[in-house]
Amino acid sequence: MVTENYKAVDRRVCEAAARAGRDRQEIVLIAVSKTKPVELVLELADAGVKDFGENHAQELVQKYDVIHEGINWHFIGHLQRNKVKYVVGRACLIHSVSSMRLAEEINKESLKKGVVSDILMEVNIAEEETKSGISEEEAEALLRQISTLPALRVKGLMAIAPPVEDPEENRGYFRQMREMKEKFQALGLPHVDLTELSMGMTGDFEVAIEEGATMVRVGTAIFGERRYE
Ligand SMILES: *Cc1c(COP(=O)(O)O)cnc(C)c1O
Repeated sequence: MVTENYKAVDRRVCEAAARAGRDRQEIVLIAVSKTKPVELVLELADAGVKDFGENHAQELVQKYDVIHEGINWHFIGHLQRNKVKYVVGRACLIHSVSSMRLAEEINKESLKKGVVSDILMEVNIAEEETKSGISEEEAEALLRQISTLPALRVKGLMAIAPPVEDPEENRGYFRQMREMKEKFQALGLPHVDLTELSMGMTGDFEVAIEEGATMVRVGTAIFGERRYE
């Protein structure tokens, strides 16, 4: 069933890309497998799916241990500094860097392991108090700080748009993200090459693609509703 769901989502990704006159190849569909059994990941991997997303370090480690050959594990959740050591070297991309303290920890761990870590800077576009993120002004200041860290590469920006009934309500946020990415890229900072925009989830990924998303993170539409104990 997950494979059929994935294919249906993939078709919607294709259609949204076509509407926007974009190439489907520019967009990575990340299957967000958090809370779901690794068997479902194996099933999708068998069908050729390569990109998966997790938001807890422990769960990433557990699933990574089962499967990682040819797989891109994306870390998309809030990351505590004491968990950085589990994520660096396992995740292909850490989407959720929203503080210098966290960036420094990832840099330190990357140097220790002799790797360079690709990250996205998370921007709190809707300025919601409840989400871990930052405003546009803070984002530019933070990006300048992060660009001094030698073992990090900032590949783009990430946003979690607010939950809405009508995805059109988030279109303005997605557009703002693309404008911010272009503005920040023009700063010409070292270790910064903003090609990626990680935005759009089950409720709004098509609108996000129309506005320039290069990575969409889709959980529910592929794996069904999540249950939290
Ligand atoms: C869970 C999660 C998603 C997927 O959400 P769905 O609405 O289930 O598609 C996307 N991004 C982040 C950061 C998440 O934590």
